[in-house]
Amino acid sequence: MPNVKEGDLINRALELLRRYPLCPSCLGRMFSSYLKGFTNYERGTSILTVLLMSLQEKVKNNDEEAKTTLEKIKNVFPEIYKQSLENLGVKWEGTSKCFVCGNLLLQLEELAVKGARVLRELKAESFVVGVSNDEEYVSREDEIWRAFSISDAESIRNELKREIGKRIQSISGIPVDFSNPGVMLVVNLKEKTIDYVSNPILIKGVYLKLGRNISQSIWITPKKIKLVPLSVEEAANSCLDYLMASKVVIHAAGREDVDVRMLGSGRPLALEIKHPQRRNIMTNSLEHCLNTRSEWVKFRLEKKISREEARRIKLSDKIHRKIYRALIYSESGFSDEDASLLEKKFNNVTVRQRTPTRVLRRRADIVRSKKVFWVKARVLGGKWMEVFIATEGGLYVKELVTGDNERTTPSFSEAIAKPLLVAELDVVQIIDYPNMV
Ligand SMILES: [Zn+2]
Repeated sequence: MPNVKEGDLINRALELLRRYPLCPSCLGRMFSSYLKGFTNYERGTSILTVLLMSLQEKVKNNDEEAKTTLEKIKNVFPEIYKQSLENLGVKWEGTSKCFVCGNLLLQLEELAVKGARVLRELKAESFVVGVSNDEEYVSREDEIWRAFSISDAESIRNELKREIGKRIQSISGIPVDFSNPGVMLVVNLKEKTIDYVSNPILIKGVYLKLGRNISQSIWITPKKIKLVPLSVEEAANSCLDYLMASKVVIHAAGREDVDVRMLGSGRPLALEIKHPQRRNIMTNSLEHCLNTRSEWVKFRLEKKISREEARRIKLSDKIHRKIYRALIYSESGFSDEDASLLEKKFNNVTVRQRTPTRVLRRRADIVRSKKVFWVKARVLGGKWMEVFIATEGGLYVKELVTGDNERTTPSFSEAIAKPLLVAELDVVQIIDYPNMV
């Protein structure tokens, strides 16, 4: 508040109250830059007390002007001052309606009880309070700020959020969390109702694909025809009844082809549970539910995580290393020499790959260099060979085997001078780079 001279504060408060009836909270808020560790209500009551004591002295000295002033502002005093006023011959007629908040700030309990009920029903772990439809309150407060050149007072919006939040926390025992709230309560100031947003719950885990012909995302044409019978996304959405949620979004670290199984370690992912209507989800119960509902897609769930951790999981594909198992076919058959040749030639080798022919329609034609760390090969007899391949993430394994018309070099086909086919491919392990054997 500018131009405050010594002893001026009480006079300024008096001027305010002459023009606008204010409740103790709204009065105190106009002086919110004074004192720390006090509520606006406490500031307002302190000012009213000193003001009344000062007027009391003047009235006792037969100051007629003081008496008239007291008559004018008597009803801004709460009931606790009734007796003191009457002792001065001023009849208190009940608390007047606050110009800014309409006494809402004196009646926050009811809203707080409603808010606490919402949080309890959602089994919320934390919350934050917002307000809506506050335009009328804000514009009345702004009128006073302009009339009295007030520039450093707290806003009613802030006070409402804080005071309602404090009360809800004390009724429900559920903590306020500004940075990562489970539930956002929105107090509609016009309707005196409480709305809420239940924020997504993110869970860290891995998925396994035990069969082939399973996509990661649901794969449908614009005419809603499903191209693949099952997806990891559908499997992740099979427990919406248990979750009481609208849907589950998957954020996986990379993806394998539809015909490739994902075994062993599983592929890291975050499940994002949207609009959960119960927030006390146990990861082991959810894991059990998901694994009961789907025969071909399985999940191992670890714990709840933050949005930032989910983002890191999604990006971790770039630093992963992978071990694949491939079943390879050659019309002319394999010898044990073929197997040892592959193991020898593909030991810490950099492979250059032009974008595979099969994905060229969707992706730019570029050359990438990726490492193959090692290969273990075993002839199964006749025309079949089983190979385990450890590679850097992002290498196209099918093309490493076939050569893709020399677009990938070196390739297994090139190394043993035989046309090759990949009959089966599985990812058997995804490893964070630092843990790579
Ligand atoms: Zn008020």
